[in-house]
Amino acid sequence: MKLQSNHILQPGYLFHSRRRFISEASFGLTFAALSISGLSALTSCADGGGQQKDNSTSQATQDQALGKMGKLKLGIALVGLGNYSEGQLAPALQETEHCYLAGIVTGSPEKTRKWKSQYNIPETNVYDYKNFDKIRDNPAIDIVYVVLPNSMHAEYTIRSAKAGKHVICEKPMAITVEDCDRMIAACKEANRMLSIGYRLHFDPYNKEMMRLGQQKEYCDFKKLIAENGMESTSGWRLNKKLAGGGPLMDVGIYCVQGVRYTTGMEPIAVRAQEGPKKDLETFQELEESLSFQLEFPGNFIAECRTSYSEHMNLLRAEVSDGWFELSPAYEYSGIKGRTAQGNMEFPQVNQQALQMDDFAMAIQNNRPTPVPGEMGRQDVKILQAIYQAMRTGERVEIW
Ligand code: NAD
Repeated sequence: MKLQSNHILQPGYLFHSRRRFISEASFGLTFAALSISGLSALTSCADGGGQQKDNSTSQATQDQALGKMGKLKLGIALVGLGNYSEGQLAPALQETEHCYLAGIVTGSPEKTRKWKSQYNIPETNVYDYKNFDKIRDNPAIDIVYVVLPNSMHAEYTIRSAKAGKHVICEKPMAITVEDCDRMIAACKEANRMLSIGYRLHFDPYNKEMMRLGQQKEYCDFKKLIAENGMESTSGWRLNKKLAGGGPLMDVGIYCVQGVRYTTGMEPIAVRAQEGPKKDLETFQELEESLSFQLEFPGNFIAECRTSYSEHMNLLRAEVSDGWFELSPAYEYSGIKGRTAQGNMEFPQVNQQALQMDDFAMAIQNNRPTPVPGEMGRQDVKILQAIYQAMRTGERVEIW
């Protein structure tokens, strides 16, 4: 099959591609087979659905067909110029086709100087945390991207919506479900779109997990395994007020996402056990590691683990007559996949560029984002249930 011509597959996104023809062919097939628009919209196995239905036109092709492009590129302002903004988002915004780095919000004069000259950002598009609300008067900024410590996501999302801007908010969406509700309400009230920085929904390997997991023949799940951990962390991530929790909030959330999008189903209950602490001083307030078991309808369990003292990176599904897995599963690049039949072969993409371009196109074409606030809220609800199960030792139902 010939590579489809759409913005998701623009050559600029393809960093490298071994066996390019085969990869592109299968990539085209994958995207043609997928039209995923948020987990709530996914048809579960129990419904007899799955992604093999004829959703043959990719989202990007539909966007182009709609042809409602207003501005050529939407302007994005990054709020919080820390590691993720500097290392991933700003570079990705040099590759995007439907949005660009228009502005910055920072409390650091030094970062202001550096970013202005590096990215050619005019003084009129530079804000600090005090004058941030003035962004409402700036037509060059269409989207605010909140890349702050977790507990600050709610405030800046709400202020952005009130300033009339569309919002991308980093994961976890917030540290409480109540905050998520306020964020969704503020964006609705302002008639602005809200999406969460779930970059893996734009990665072909993770999309393949969604496709395989939601195929009818693979619906008979026996077990899922999702593990994501780092060997250490520092800064605000170790402050409960700012982070909202330990590794679960930061990297364990990918396990929750992974099992939700692989199955297309919602967990109904959870049990959780805090791991032993090797570093009692650092982890006084927070879990250092955590195991949790998400129970799904159909009586199968997703065994999940997260940690700030152990490197782990796996998403695996075991079904009645096979298995499929990614390891590493959640990285920015270098994701590798295998099934019982052999290796997965897809191109490496710039996940963040695809994610931000998709949001810009969603705004331009007035269609839903595949990673909306409601998806972020559901994850926060599950994270809270996991913590409750950890504290009580009880099985906690997830409503
Ligand atoms: P970071 O510590 O590198 O950057 C945080 C930024 O917030 C800094 O510029 C800091 O100056 C600013 N800030 C403003 N007020 C602050 C305060 N009161 N305390 C501390 N910092 C303050 O963090 P990061 O790694 O860039 O993470 C930022 C957000 O992005 C987090 O929510 C994180 O979960 C998310 N993130 C997402 C991904 C992803 O793959 N989607 C990857 C990394 C981080």
